[in-house]
Amino acid sequence: MNNIASVTSTVLVFAGHDPSGGAGITADTIAIHANGAHAATLITAHTVQDTIQVQRFIPADSLLLEDQARVLLTDLDVRAIKIGMIGITAIVESIYSVLCDYPTIPVIFDPVMAGGGGGHLMDNEVHAAITELLLPRCLLLTPNSIEARRLAHAEALDSCGQQLLQWGCRYVLIKGSHEAGTDIVHRLYHANNVPQQFTSPRLPHEYRGTGCTLASSIAAHIAHGEPVVNAVQLAQQYTYRTLQQAYAAGKGQLLPQRFVQPE
Ligand code: PLP
Repeated sequence: MNNIASVTSTVLVFAGHDPSGGAGITADTIAIHANGAHAATLITAHTVQDTIQVQRFIPADSLLLEDQARVLLTDLDVRAIKIGMIGITAIVESIYSVLCDYPTIPVIFDPVMAGGGGGHLMDNEVHAAITELLLPRCLLLTPNSIEARRLAHAEALDSCGQQLLQWGCRYVLIKGSHEAGTDIVHRLYHANNVPQQFTSPRLPHEYRGTGCTLASSIAAHIAHGEPVVNAVQLAQQYTYRTLQQAYAAGKGQLLPQRFVQPE
């Protein structure tokens, strides 16, 4: 009876449910397991969407969410917390209240504002709560360039990176997929360092759930104890391979093949 393995790398995930299976909690769970960690999942919102676009969302009950998180954190040995879609301010406040009681667990936050094919996933008034309550607790924030500009109220991406660091994130990874160019360039900002670039060739299709895949695989590597730069590098390579093997499940965006083996 002593040969039961215990999992040491558990990631607690706060994310929305995408019923198409392309993004959100489903994407996070597969990416975390594919990268050798265990995912414990908390649903922040239900969405109505297909592989084409988001139509609407209904947030979860924030008190229920807080209760679920506290029960899991008492039982599981959580080594990283990944936050995705949060939708409304009440959810930010619940997550913040939980994080206050677990100040040493690293937090990776992907500030999802819209679906890849369009459709609103966050109320605008949530930005202030994110800045005040969540950014100071983030080891790593992973906005795309649109989210970075909206949160930082700046145009130049370097200024956005510096502003987000000033608001308390230790690292900021600004993803360049929405910028023009034959390559996609992500830039990792950290205080007092020249930003580090992660470049990959732009693939020809539109994909759903790439941000979820990247942030969750980073969280898995952080849970394994990897430093942030290594975690980003490993996760970036993994995410690129999931996109090379992406498949069509519906009529819209392609979905990453997240069961690819990490190298
Ligand atoms: N979370 C949920 C619940 C979603 O529905 C979506 C997109 O539709 C996302 C996150 C963001 O997905 P992506 O990784 O494509 O930015």
